[in-house]
Amino acid sequence: MVKGLVVKNLTVAYGNIEVVHGVSFEVHEGEIVTLIGANGAGKSTILRAISGMIPVKSGTITFNEQEITSLRSHKITELGLAHVPEGRGIFTRLTVLENLMVGAYRRNDKAEVNNDLERVFTLFPRLYERKKQLAGTLSGGEQQMLAVGRALMTGASLLLLDEPSMGLAPVLVESIFEVFVEIAEAGKTILLVEQNAAMALSIADRGYVLETGNITLSGTADYLANHPGVAEAYLGGK
Ligand code: ATP
Repeated sequence: MVKGLVVKNLTVAYGNIEVVHGVSFEVHEGEIVTLIGANGAGKSTILRAISGMIPVKSGTITFNEQEITSLRSHKITELGLAHVPEGRGIFTRLTVLENLMVGAYRRNDKAEVNNDLERVFTLFPRLYERKKQLAGTLSGGEQQMLAVGRALMTGASLLLLDEPSMGLAPVLVESIFEVFVEIAEAGKTILLVEQNAAMALSIADRGYVLETGNITLSGTADYLANHPGVAEAYLGGK
């Protein structure tokens, strides 16, 4: 059995405008895979299609060998896939702890939920220190930690992370990305969408380059980081 995510010939359109043109890629269990690409390449669209937020025009999406194409998003969440959208989508008028527990609201396994809460607080001690604080008063970096923490509280085995570095100071990006490595080492799978290709490739196992809705290059993170075309277009012409 192929554990993880398999996307085949995925095509997505908004109305008549097709923005993703038949992309195929895989994310295996325990891997960090990054999808890099410029503004508007279709990265967020692909994540939205995987998590059932927008319809798929054609192609198939399989998660742990079960086809999830066109399932409702809450069904997809139940299967163990959590989407952390761009802009984070936290509840600003709830506390940190309440936001985390919202992530777990469909779960009945109380002991496991408590374990996951402990794990989230261990990964992000700042969230523990601020558990009673209203989420809207957190800094941008803390809000990003909270969004990732809430996704972990769903009990998900696959995290879809959309531009987690957005708007954060470089030192904070580094520390959050280190936590992504810890999360993957604990057995979770991560699909990371990023414009910050250098940071994404520094923690990923493999990557795919997306250009205007097509995958144009793929390989190990090392291969991509040293590829002249990638360096030129995405790493500031190293
Ligand atoms: P960014 O890094 O800027 O978020 P992206 O690679 O995630 O870019 P998408 O947000 O997936 O790109 O957008 C891909 C294309 O689809 C863009 O041309 C965008 O304008 C278009 N698009 C996105 N959302 C919609 C929508 N709701 N309706 C119509 N077009 C959309």
